[in-house]
Amino acid sequence: MTTEKEAVKKPLDFIRQIIADDLASGKHQGIVTRFPPEPNGFLHIGHAKSICLNFGVAREYNGVCHLRFDDTNPDKESTEYVEAIMRDVRWLGFDWEPHLYYASDYFEQLHDCAVRLIEMGKAYVCHLSADAIREYRGTLTEPGRESPYRNRSVEENLDLFARMRAGNIDEGVCVLRAKIDMASANIIMRDPVLYRILKTSHHRTGDKWCIYPMYDFTHCLSDMLEQVTHSLCTLEFENNRALYDWVLDTLQTPNHPRQIEFARLNINYTVTSKRKLLQLVEEGHVSGWDDPRMLTLSGLRRRGCPPAAIRHFCATIGIGKRESWIDMGVLENAVREELNQHAPRVFGVLEPLKIVLTNYPENLVEEVAAQNHPQEPALGDRQVPFCRELYIERSDFMEDAPKKFFRLSIGREVRLRYAYLITCHQVIKDAEGRIVELHCTYDPESKGGSSPDGRKVKGTIHWVSAPHAMRAEVRLYDRLFTVADPEMDKEKSFKEFLNPRSLTVLTDCALEPGLARATLEDRFQFERQGYFCLDSVESSPDKPVFNRIVTLRDSWAKISSTA
Ligand code: ATP
Ligand code: MG
Repeated sequence: MTTEKEAVKKPLDFIRQIIADDLASGKHQGIVTRFPPEPNGFLHIGHAKSICLNFGVAREYNGVCHLRFDDTNPDKESTEYVEAIMRDVRWLGFDWEPHLYYASDYFEQLHDCAVRLIEMGKAYVCHLSADAIREYRGTLTEPGRESPYRNRSVEENLDLFARMRAGNIDEGVCVLRAKIDMASANIIMRDPVLYRILKTSHHRTGDKWCIYPMYDFTHCLSDMLEQVTHSLCTLEFENNRALYDWVLDTLQTPNHPRQIEFARLNINYTVTSKRKLLQLVEEGHVSGWDDPRMLTLSGLRRRGCPPAAIRHFCATIGIGKRESWIDMGVLENAVREELNQHAPRVFGVLEPLKIVLTNYPENLVEEVAAQNHPQEPALGDRQVPFCRELYIERSDFMEDAPKKFFRLSIGREVRLRYAYLITCHQVIKDAEGRIVELHCTYDPESKGGSSPDGRKVKGTIHWVSAPHAMRAEVRLYDRLFTVADPEMDKEKSFKEFLNPRSLTVLTDCALEPGLARATLEDRFQFERQGYFCLDSVESSPDKPVFNRIVTLRDSWAKISSTA
């Protein structure tokens, strides 16, 4: 059965509309998209938007989506990144099937295209320095000036380009440039560089090449060679579209993909730039690309975030043409909604305080039936041991409690969820005055937590049997930055806004014993505390480590009303 919400069809976003029109008009018989990461870092949440779009439309319109590594910058790229990217795309739920490509596989063809441009008088070798090229380029208000090398003969250019390729010219001495228009209003069209000399080994082609094509030249031709129909990219490439089209038009290629730009995903309280994420990793501000605080896909995976939540998030934010900021809370909500449906409920006491039920028999252990999912009774019950010594959350007791404090205090009664009503009588402190233990009594008539005589007990708290508890480390995460836009201040580095309290490690938590059987795939709701899973990197059977994936919102109100 579809719910009303699902039945209301969202209007197509502008990209899907273009694709639908192109198929309806017969312009294309089928569509081909591509996701083209540069293997110079791990994928982040911004890439997820592009992956969901490219693979998503291919799936919806019976097309195919290629995974193509845009590997034209050997200085910064590596096989480690290639592998991480493939792992992350698969994890997100997408498959490129046989369509795995590398721009470096096209180096020969790209080189031939460059030679063709030279032969057509549309490209030349320029010996201006990088600084001089920049200076000659002009500004938004001033036209550029022509390079003194611009009118070299075709023969001379062919010879120089061949010597560049052969390794006979040093790095930085010259470049190959397109000959377009130094007075163009679009600065990108002012004789852009097509090839530079880089005497660096490439992770796939080794030392075969010492000239490498630039992004703008590579991208359009790679799309064309793969017969991509719709080349979807972010708005910052809008001005590059003229060059994209110029290269294909000038070379009169057999097909001409259409570049369409959409707004990139910006999320507050984080940075989404591989270059910046790399700095956090290299300078040790985080434990690695997969640090659970990083909004990389591997960080989100390790944190415990289900891939379906990310796909749902990407569908929610939609595809538009205008730059916007998405609140981190939107992502957290998507994760919460996904986990809420399936995660079984358990008890975990994060900061344990021991209580002794002085009127409970010394050696008795009862099994208490606790619901696995109060909103889904079909998911059944589990048995949790209950005895004379228990742990409760330190924050659930207060010595001088205000009237509205509905948890434990001297002389007050609370409900231990699913178990009994208890009343606190005595606080035991150590020499420093720190509370170490509470002495309470339980009402044997209140089994299951119900009030035997209708007396009102407002507070309900969770608990774990002290002798049966599984001890574990629990890590709580907060946002990595303290300000919404860590990049806003041009005078300061984004790193100055790192949140010093983004990680809290609780080393001696007490969890209900059933959690000893948890596997890496499991997700749990620790009642009143949030959603948790084992840390895939640092947890071991001897020393279990749980991550908090996300907090619960308004957990307290919910528990009180369902108890
Ligand atoms: P970064 O700035 O993090 O290095 P990038 O754009 O250089 O990102 P690429 O590997 O070139 O990284 O990106 C692959 C694809 O992902 C590109 O098509 C790019 O437009 C898209 N992409 C990157 N960041 C975002 C984002 N924040 N939102 C949507 N799409 C993105
Ligand atoms: Mg890029």
